[in-house]
Amino acid sequence: MHVLVTGGAGFIGSHLVERLLADGHTVTVLDDLSGGRRENLAPVGDHPRLRLIVGDVTDPAALGAAFEGVELVFHLAAVVGIPRVLADPLRMIRVNVGGTERVLEACAARGVPVCVASSSEVYGKGIRWPAAEDDDLRLGPPTVPRWAYAVSKLLDEHLALAWARRGLSVRVVRYFNVYGPRADPQGYGYVIARFMEQAWRGEPLTVYGDGRQTRSFIYVEDAVEGTLRAGVLPAAAGHVLNIGHPEEISILALAEKVRAITGRSVPIRFLPLAEVYGPDFEEVPRRVPDVSKARALLGFEARVTLDEGLQRTWEWWQACQRV
Ligand code: NAD
Repeated sequence: MHVLVTGGAGFIGSHLVERLLADGHTVTVLDDLSGGRRENLAPVGDHPRLRLIVGDVTDPAALGAAFEGVELVFHLAAVVGIPRVLADPLRMIRVNVGGTERVLEACAARGVPVCVASSSEVYGKGIRWPAAEDDDLRLGPPTVPRWAYAVSKLLDEHLALAWARRGLSVRVVRYFNVYGPRADPQGYGYVIARFMEQAWRGEPLTVYGDGRQTRSFIYVEDAVEGTLRAGVLPAAAGHVLNIGHPEEISILALAEKVRAITGRSVPIRFLPLAEVYGPDFEEVPRRVPDVSKARALLGFEARVTLDEGLQRTWEWWQACQRV
């Protein structure tokens, strides 16, 4: 197949591109390189079946060029990461909502199936954990800028499902904290990348808040597998699917784990959330997915344990720092 990956030079996108090429597909990447990097595609950079278009998903001309000959789309392009969202919420809303709207319109006009990337952020503070796709959502007020990202992704989901009702083959994946090689320490909740960078430099691992908040982390190879299944399996059409690992860990325990795996005897430093993100920031104490829908519809289950994934990420981290 000829597959378009928007945001394909980003963290998850570049791994998805590698996998698609390895599976024999032809891939077009549309990415404006605002968050992603050309180097993320270095392992496949000169692949004869890869075409990189540097352009903006909100630009109709760039989209038109990117869609030529395309049979399936993975729409991952977005402004991602709390620091970027807080720095310019307006740009984030324009790209995350406007970009998705244009991609869906382009898919509908050409009858091309699409998989849209959403986020566990849409659960907000949550009603119950583990959270299932049909649960109610609990977001904070619009005066707290962090919720703008969740709302942008939620509107993407509504757009996708509205197009599904008009006959477009569309599905949505809600990622829960993806980690692994190439994650940007500045990116979305990339606490693991940040801890590894700090450990590498011999600096304290900075835990925001008291460290008792829990999260679940899915290794990028697993996230790619779940995404691919969602993209190609007919059973996924019209559905929203959690793509995550069902195990949860506190951020303090995660810091201790990273310290043990990296072998760096660095201290752990606690930073008040207000100091990091400003006085309005609202922290979410717990976030873990119910993965039964992905298991039932996609036969998908995350396989890489946190220890193994951290080990692999640390090996990559060391290798790329030595270059
Ligand atoms: P990323 O920042 O590495 O990737 C996003 C890519 O989109 C980047 O390469 C960036 O350059 C590109 N992009 C941004 N604005 C663009 C524009 N206007 N036009 C074209 N390209 C543009 O982030 P990621 O972690 O790989 O995230 C991929 C997707 O998964 C995003 O939609 C994100 O919201 C979602 N997601 C990620 C996580 C996670 O844990 N990494 C969790 C939940 C959701």
